[in-house]
Amino acid sequence: MIKGVLLDLSGTVYVGNEVLPGALEAVERLQAQNIPLRYLTNSSRSPRKTIFQKLRAMGFAIVEEEIFTAPQAIHDYLREHKLSPWLLVHPAIEEEFSDLGGGTPDAVVLGDAADAFTYVNLNRAFRLLFDGARLLAVGDNRYFREADGMSLDAGPFVTALEYATGCEAIILGKPSVAFFHSAASHLGCRPEETLMVGDDVFSDINGALKAGMKAALVQTGKYRPGDEQNIIAPGACVCTDLLEAVEGIL
Ligand SMILES: [Mg+2]
Repeated sequence: MIKGVLLDLSGTVYVGNEVLPGALEAVERLQAQNIPLRYLTNSSRSPRKTIFQKLRAMGFAIVEEEIFTAPQAIHDYLREHKLSPWLLVHPAIEEEFSDLGGGTPDAVVLGDAADAFTYVNLNRAFRLLFDGARLLAVGDNRYFREADGMSLDAGPFVTALEYATGCEAIILGKPSVAFFHSAASHLGCRPEETLMVGDDVFSDINGALKAGMKAALVQTGKYRPGDEQNIIAPGACVCTDLLEAVEGIL
């Protein structure tokens, strides 16, 4: 029995600035049944506060603490391991790391940096990693859907730096099992009582399954026919959209 739900955001709840059909109703129905919810996102082009304000403007009745972001998980890791970051991230989220660092960088933080993925910046990251810095990444997502089409996500840049240096990135957002388990514990649910809903078969669905959760792949956002063939284990279903996924557990 499902007692708590984790929702991916981009491609599951909204695409760009447009809320997806049925998403508001899906969340309202979960809230009406007092099923606890958390939002789990690797998005790293805007700080959590901005994501929260966007969801509120779309009509979602949520509090900021319900949103779990990969940059937050990286921030916590840096603090725990007393690392000084060098940021290869979107300028909009640099402020989330403003309380850290100051020393010689011993960690490269890689987010979806968009236009900041320049040769100069990638080469700076390469040199730091070559000299022994750790590579911390929001995720290994390959692409995501924006309003005007599919776009490169952070994953291809993580892979490029791993290839060049021989290092292995530490992924702290989805599909990290620790990230899923941290969100489930905030729900007050065991993994097997938790449903993850998302549009990314690798990051959302297979990540949740590896964490011992149930999962629902939605056919919105980046979904393409045939994605379901990449699901690695039983415990997942495929749904038209978020509303259908929610109806399946009510
Ligand atoms: Mg998504």
